[in-house]
Amino acid sequence: MARPLHAEVNLAALRANVAKVKECAPGTQVFAVVKANAYGHGLMRVLPALNDVDGLALLELDAAVALRDERYSRRILLLEGFFESKELAVISGKRLAVVVHHLDQVRMLETAHLARPLEVFIKINTGMNRLGVLPHDVAAIVERLSHCDSVAAFRLMTHLARAEEDDGLADQLAFFKRACEGLHYPRSIANSAGVIRFREVGGEIVRPGIMLYGATPFAHDSAAMLGLEPVMTLRSQIIAVQDLEVNDAVGYGAGYAAARAHRIGVIACGYADGYPRHAPNGTPVLVCGRKVRIVGRVSMDMITVDLTDAPQASVGSPVVLWGTGLPVDEVAAAASTVGYELLCAVAPRVAFTVTTVTKVDLEV
Ligand SMILES: *Cc1c(COP(=O)(O)O)cnc(C)c1O
Repeated sequence: MARPLHAEVNLAALRANVAKVKECAPGTQVFAVVKANAYGHGLMRVLPALNDVDGLALLELDAAVALRDERYSRRILLLEGFFESKELAVISGKRLAVVVHHLDQVRMLETAHLARPLEVFIKINTGMNRLGVLPHDVAAIVERLSHCDSVAAFRLMTHLARAEEDDGLADQLAFFKRACEGLHYPRSIANSAGVIRFREVGGEIVRPGIMLYGATPFAHDSAAMLGLEPVMTLRSQIIAVQDLEVNDAVGYGAGYAAARAHRIGVIACGYADGYPRHAPNGTPVLVCGRKVRIVGRVSMDMITVDLTDAPQASVGSPVVLWGTGLPVDEVAAAASTVGYELLCAVAPRVAFTVTTVTKVDLEV
């Protein structure tokens, strides 16, 4: 038998999360964010569940081209636009929309000769201070590009830095509103946190990422509270059991010493699979549906868990590292990171399977 570790991708859950986006932001155009190989889920793997969105957003040009090669015909937005003018021919040829966040990109568009003009999202820096043009430059850029044969349509866009915090929206929204004054183009503001707070954020085009995959963008509201379903379940099995005596140590550096005699289970999953190496003693894992805790350091290919609370567990018992029954956000919090990082980090050696199990199926 093959090593039992695999990531199961539930396309029914992804469809349900798309429906949730539409419920939160009714009547908007939805660009599903699928950068980083659909947050580690596999871009081509998730595509069949994204029939109901208006387009996809990502930043890897090769992946965008691959989508066209797979006959994906809806809109595709490059979230960082282009880096060199020589990319513009492919971008135009493949009908890709671009973010323009820098004056160098404006100059490249002005001098380009393209077969087909582009849909351009002008990205405005409203306080995140990563990408984006200054609010007071926006009108001049629109003016310049409206004389440019390379541009077919304008959108106005910004990215929220603190949409998960109660007081995290007002300043950026005010800056954005002022920057867009007098410019009547569709606006795109909301990431997942902004979609969930759509009544405050607004806009005509939304760009949800993490919520589609069933994880939460918030520190305090869980995915379940938001009505989201986990798309990826990372599954494995117990491959060995050890009986510890008092003071027996576990793993490299003896990162755990038993205060009492108990059993531990050894699970096929380690940091070379993308499991966070810094997950400390106490990080939750499901064994036979019971929540147990990591003891000892995460190693390259294995983790070890205290089996006291899963007395029925033995070699071959089913394990969930995260997903159905154990939110990725809970594991991430224990490891001082966010669900985004864990999902994106699943390593190439992990096998993937696809299911379509609906929530209703899970309840019966
Ligand atoms: C990644 C990204 C998103 C999606 O963010 P989530 O928090 O995953 O919803 C939206 N917009 C831009 C510009 C991004 O880079």
